[in-house]
Amino acid sequence: MSRRTPHSRDQHRPAPARNPSCPCGLGETYERCCGRFHRGESTAPTAEALMRSRYCAFVRLDEAYLLRTWHPRSRPAGLDLDPAMRWTGLEILGATEGTVFHDTGTVTFRASYAGGSLWERSRFERVGGVWVYVEAEPGGAVG
Ligand SMILES: [Zn+2]
Repeated sequence: MSRRTPHSRDQHRPAPARNPSCPCGLGETYERCCGRFHRGESTAPTAEALMRSRYCAFVRLDEAYLLRTWHPRSRPAGLDLDPAMRWTGLEILGATEGTVFHDTGTVTFRASYAGGSLWERSRFERVGGVWVYVEAEPGGAVG
């Protein structure tokens, strides 16, 4: 007599409970938030979304993403990201334009790290339909 009980032992375990939200602070998981932009599955729809994804790229030392979302006019040849830098949070303080209806925009933010914070008003432009970072506004970067 062979009584086979369907032992479904090999069903997938649920993902680990620890599912931290994206470093950019929006509350979604990284995969569903900035991860989509970093992986190239979609592009940031607004200047603010791009700003968040770039902050997130700094956190994750994603130099390639930072360079490809930099305006060709102002893009550095490379970045010297410091793995010891501990980013602790991003606060968007304001934004002008930069929506789906605009081609330029600014985002003012404070990025905090262990030991200090950085305040900047950044300029963004749309190049070929895609938002890119241009530069900090003159006088708009205060350490
Ligand atoms: Zn994010």
